[in-house]
Amino acid sequence: AKEQGRNRYHYYAKQLQERAVERLEIETALRHAVADNLLSLVYQPQLDARTGTVIGLEALLRWNNSDGTPYLSPLQIITIAEKNGLIIPIGEWVFHTACRQLRQWQHEGLATPRLAINLSAVQFEEPGLVQLVQDALQKNDLSPDYIELELTESAIMHRPDDAKQKLLELKKLGVWLALDDFGTGYSSLSYLKLFPIDRIKIDRSFVNEATTNNDDAAIVETVISLANNMRMQVIAEGVETQEHVEFLLARGCHEMQGYYYARPLPADQCGKLLIPGFVT
Ligand code: C2E
Ligand code: CA
Ligand code: CA
Ligand code: CA
Repeated sequence: AKEQGRNRYHYYAKQLQERAVERLEIETALRHAVADNLLSLVYQPQLDARTGTVIGLEALLRWNNSDGTPYLSPLQIITIAEKNGLIIPIGEWVFHTACRQLRQWQHEGLATPRLAINLSAVQFEEPGLVQLVQDALQKNDLSPDYIELELTESAIMHRPDDAKQKLLELKKLGVWLALDDFGTGYSSLSYLKLFPIDRIKIDRSFVNEATTNNDDAAIVETVISLANNMRMQVIAEGVETQEHVEFLLARGCHEMQGYYYARPLPADQCGKLLIPGFVT
């Protein structure tokens, strides 16, 4: 029995060690990826389903192998990067790259919609955030109303009082604020009216089941009327079928994002969806 116990101990110790080594390898690889510009952004269109117009783009992080397959998912990257501090340079890179791309499209004479950028909880609490946003706008000569920041409920609810202050500072810059994955976090509805939120994004888990599950349908309906009553915009993510589109339109939500319309696209392909037009 003692022998067995020792073997088991060795087994677990070895596993732990392997996992630690693996984590270190991934961290090192991520550092190189940042330094060598191996990260990239894709852009997923957001549409007004009534007209089929592209009204927004969401920038999404990618880290691909040279053959184009993903090396790590964005959620894995963000989770690791939040633990080792790389989230700060990665966040800066995302912001500057997305803003530069938007400016590039404008230089090409394309009418650009607003561009949504994701912020994790750690990024949101970082003292340099307001400055980062300001710098990226200034450097790329962008009007702030082209930019929307996507935050989750948990990022905001962690320290609601500080969060409110920070949100007001960001609003003062003139950017839009969206509450991402709405309904999945621990939200108290009363804070919604205290925070300067412009748009609610209904989480795709509810959207996906809304046409087959009564509870999800009720949640989606409730979020839409909540947004309407509080004079906030509302967008549904994870729209995958014609049924989803019809369900949402019938209930007064016309902003949509999902595979039904378009997958996240590399910049050159996304640019083809934008129409020539005047820019401000
Ligand atoms: P998210 O912000 O909720 O982004 C939407 C996710 O849903 C994206 O996954 C997108 O590819 C996926 N999606 C879009 N339409 C559909 C659909 O119709 N069906 C389904 N099943 N999925 C759809 P992705 O790109 O894998 O990103 C995952 C998460 O990683 C994001 O969730 C966001 O939380 C995080 N993330 C991505 N890029 C960044 C970034 O630059 N910064 C930060 N902080 N987080 C990021
Ligand atoms: Ca998002
Ligand atoms: Ca989301
Ligand atoms: Ca999500």
